[in-house]
Amino acid sequence: MSSLFPALAAGPDDARPALRFGERSLTYGGLRAAAAALAPRIAGAARVAVWATPSAETAVAVVAALLAGVPAVPLNPRTGERELTHVLTDSQPALVLAAPGDDLPAPLAGLPRVDVGLHAREGGWPADPAAAAQVGGPVGGADTGGAPPDAGADPEAPALIVYTSGTTGPPKGAVLPRRALAASLDALADAWAWTADDVLVHALPLFHVHGLVLGVLGPLRRGGSVRHLGRFTAEGVARELADGGTVLFGVPTMYHRLAEALGTDEALVKALAGARLLVSGSAALPLPVHERITAATGRRVVERYGMTETLMNTSVRVGQDPHRPGSVGTPLPGVALRLVRDDGTPITAYDGETIGEVQVRGPNLFSGYLNRPDATAAAFDGDWFRTGDMAVRDADGSLRLVGRRATDLIKSGGFKIGAGEVENVLLAHPGVREAAVTGEPDADLGERVVAWVVPADPAAPPSPGDLAGHVAAQLAPHKRPRAVRYLEALPRNDMGKVMKRALHG
Ligand code: ATP
Ligand code: MG
Repeated sequence: MSSLFPALAAGPDDARPALRFGERSLTYGGLRAAAAALAPRIAGAARVAVWATPSAETAVAVVAALLAGVPAVPLNPRTGERELTHVLTDSQPALVLAAPGDDLPAPLAGLPRVDVGLHAREGGWPADPAAAAQVGGPVGGADTGGAPPDAGADPEAPALIVYTSGTTGPPKGAVLPRRALAASLDALADAWAWTADDVLVHALPLFHVHGLVLGVLGPLRRGGSVRHLGRFTAEGVARELADGGTVLFGVPTMYHRLAEALGTDEALVKALAGARLLVSGSAALPLPVHERITAATGRRVVERYGMTETLMNTSVRVGQDPHRPGSVGTPLPGVALRLVRDDGTPITAYDGETIGEVQVRGPNLFSGYLNRPDATAAAFDGDWFRTGDMAVRDADGSLRLVGRRATDLIKSGGFKIGAGEVENVLLAHPGVREAAVTGEPDADLGERVVAWVVPADPAAPPSPGDLAGHVAAQLAPHKRPRAVRYLEALPRNDMGKVMKRALHG
């Protein structure tokens, strides 16, 4: 298989920008040198953990591991010790890569630590990083040309072990082979006409697929560059987009904050209006957020749909697909996608109404959950991966997600109600800032619709009757909430996803 990062070969790309994190930036030549200096210190390890802070060191560590052929496990630096211990016990890394000066918590105390340097002297890769490690010799110098060292790697070799977001249960380690990374990043790049001239702006964490695989490895695979804000702010987004950024990646909570800032921030309006591509993913972008951004900037936010296990499945294509907020587009090249009814039969006629489970297959799929053959087997129907997400397809084949089977599909009075549809209507109520909808056991209905609402003004929350009437006026009456619970904030994980399992608990 060819290299994951052709632009890292020594040559004309050396002086091009690759990464910028705050004040610190690396060219492709600098990234190669930093990764080459690190590689001999990890070569031969069965697996390495990466303390994945939003930093250039994290990017260097992951690239070095990929080029050296050592599977990397990005660790969430904000996670609690219990979850960290779970991930470490499960993945058994030989060592941990961290930025110099990072304080590592107790569960990492027993692991050898390797500090990631950014300013290694320019040079190429040793012909054989493992041999260089054995002799302990300096790296580089001799081999300054040619392809990066991963060019001959086995496409099925595990490249990354990424833990799922833990939205529905404890995170599971998805083993991602090189083949899946290459296939998914290329499919996305083609769908979005992503080029070496693109400058991606993002502020996502680097321990999930969205921020790390799409947001760092994606641009590097095309020879483009990444600017990471460190911490998300609307001003930071406006600044970077005004200063050469062409593409923005974000999760819905970020677009929600951008939408709120648009009313008062003229620079942000201009910056978003001028971007080549605005992409949202990881969770559904509420319709009112779509609409506010389009109304203020004239731009549409493109949604794509993926998961840790499958990388990217579908995306809206700019310029090709009709503007249909709520659609996550059509399958990416190489991805086969079907909707399957509860009785196991695939839906063949797309009517925009019949709900089925999304199942996918293609070169973008993971190779299995680490240490979980049971969970892996349960997740497949033959070679189709069961996503657990429920959706409908419109006549043109584009997909609209209804929600997760486990938490977002409410069976009430003989009807199936998608939580997202009710959430979108609640969010359009001026008195509602955030909303989540769940099902609760009900003697009469089987389940009843419950709305969890963060009021726009806590001193004057809209009444349950007002909200039920608002929903019943716009959707079928059986979709109205039968109970409303008021909260100061919704429980969300690091990706801003609502943890519905925490609501009833
Ligand atoms: P866990 O599997 O541990 O419960 P998780 O499913 O949230 O957590 P991820 O793999 O990070 O972990 O997220 C994938 C899920 O995110 C998808 O299955 C889907 O439910 C949701 N998702 C991703 N993109 C979108 C999108 N554009 N719209 C709606 N939902 C999305
Ligand atoms: Mg999941």
